[in-house]
Order: sequence, then structure tokens, then C-alpha cells
Amino acid sequence: MERIIFLCVVSACLASVHTQTFLLNPKWSPIGYKEHDVQGGNTAMDEIIKTNENQASRILDGTTSLRDGDIAVSAGKRSKVCFARSCLWSKSVDGHVYIAYKLSPEYSELEKNQIVKGMENVERDTCVRFVPWTHQQDFIDIQPKSGCWSYLGSRGGRQTLSLQSPNCLQVGVISHELMHALGFVHEQSRIDRDNYVTIMWENIWRDRLRNFQKFKTDNLGLPYDYSSIMHFGMYAYSQDGQPTIIAKSSKDVKLGQTSILSQIDKMKINKLYQCGWCDDDDYYSK
Ligand SMILES: [Zn+2]
Repeated sequence: MERIIFLCVVSACLASVHTQTFLLNPKWSPIGYKEHDVQGGNTAMDEIIKTNENQASRILDGTTSLRDGDIAVSAGKRSKVCFARSCLWSKSVDGHVYIAYKLSPEYSELEKNQIVKGMENVERDTCVRFVPWTHQQDFIDIQPKSGCWSYLGSRGGRQTLSLQSPNCLQVGVISHELMHALGFVHEQSRIDRDNYVTIMWENIWRDRLRNFQKFKTDNLGLPYDYSSIMHFGMYAYSQDGQPTIIAKSSKDVKLGQTSILSQIDKMKINKLYQCGWCDDDDYYSK
């Protein structure tokens, strides 16, 4: 009898372990989307795609939708297309660009600390400073809505930036969304991208072909950056596990970035906001 009870306890334990594994395993995906395990870690954009495709509706509300996977676009009077230089945050006389933010009270202290780490990532070696909102008219309202997304550049007034918990609270994802809020689009959206990467259209999930469009970007005179935190990973929106973007220089070039800003990302910020102490010569001589 004791033996039977022991076996029952063991099998109950195993069953509960199995159930937990199942519950914790985020393998569910929409039809047509094939997740790809990338050696050496996913890029920030891979994490965003995984979260947004599984959880965020492409239409956020009646008038706002997502473009290119994680850029919020509103219909109506504030729908002007905003690229680098056209929607800048204002600069202080002391040379810094102070961007006010509010954090939703729904975030725990740990989560708030994590978001601040993402901000520090963008502040490092740049003149951007994120400051808690006090009275500023323009500010970023960070909320755990559905998915990871941001508007492009400063829109004027309050603008939402969504960091769903816990999926969007990785430092790289937070930094990526803040870069959108600063005014940057995805690196492979650059008008000159076809000189540097090949888009493998036949491998892209059909419903997401539009996420690979090019824009008339202002590249600020900076080189194409394969390792930008704003670059899609090699398997972004792959429908069959095959690469969707390949570097022209070499198939071995890793695209995108997991958690840190690249050197050129920082230079982009410093050039766009004319930070004044960006030392290009130092970078190019490395
Ligand atoms: Zn993005």
C-alpha cells in the first residue's frame, strides 16, 4: 500500500512538472509564423516580433495601428510622416536633450528599475537625458499595454510608449522603442539598404511583406549599420525558417543587436540632436 501511495506521489509530481513546463513554454504562434532559434541570442527586434505577433493586435484602437512591426501610427491630424529631423525633441541650452517620462503605476519597482536601465543605455555617450515628468508639455507615457511599440519621434503633448510586462522589459527592447521615440526607423528601412542587404522576399511571411518597405530616410552621413539595435534579425518574419535578410558583404555578418546600442546608433543620436561632442574621427580610426 505504501508503495502504491509513493508511486502516486511520484507520478503526481511528474505530472505537475510536465504541466508547468507546458504552461511556461511560449511555443504557441499564429499560423504562418515560424520562430527561429538564433545562435548567440535573439536580437531586440526578434523579441519584439515574438511579443507583438503573439499578443498585440495590429490595430491598437480605432485610429492607431502598428507599422513595421512596432511603430504606432495614428490616423488624423497628427499622422504626419516623421523621419529623422522632422520630429525632434527640443534641446536645452546646456546641450542636453531632456525627455520627460511617466511610468505607469502598474509597474513594480523591479520593472521600473529595468526601464530606467534601458534609458541609461540610450543616455550613455549621448546627450539625451530621460527625466521623470514634472510639468513638461511633451512627454512619453510608458505603459504596460499590449505589446512593445512606440510612436516615431516627438509628436507633441503626451505620447504613449508600450512596454508590456514581462516580454518587453529587456534592456535591448526598451532601448529599441526609445530609439523610435527619438525619431529613428529600422536600419533596413534606409533608402540605400539594397546596397548592403538582400531582402529574401520569398522567405517572408506573406502578411508581413509591408514590414520590409524602404523609406526616404536621412542617413545623417553615417554608414549602414548591420549591428544597429534598430536592425531586424536575419530571420525576422520568416515563414519557413529560412533567412529573410542577408548581408551582401558576407552571409556570416550578424544582423541586429540584443541589448546594447552600437557605436553608430550612438553617433546617430548625437548627429541628429547635434550633441556637439561626437568624435567621428575617433570612431573611424578604430
Ligand atoms: Zn522597432
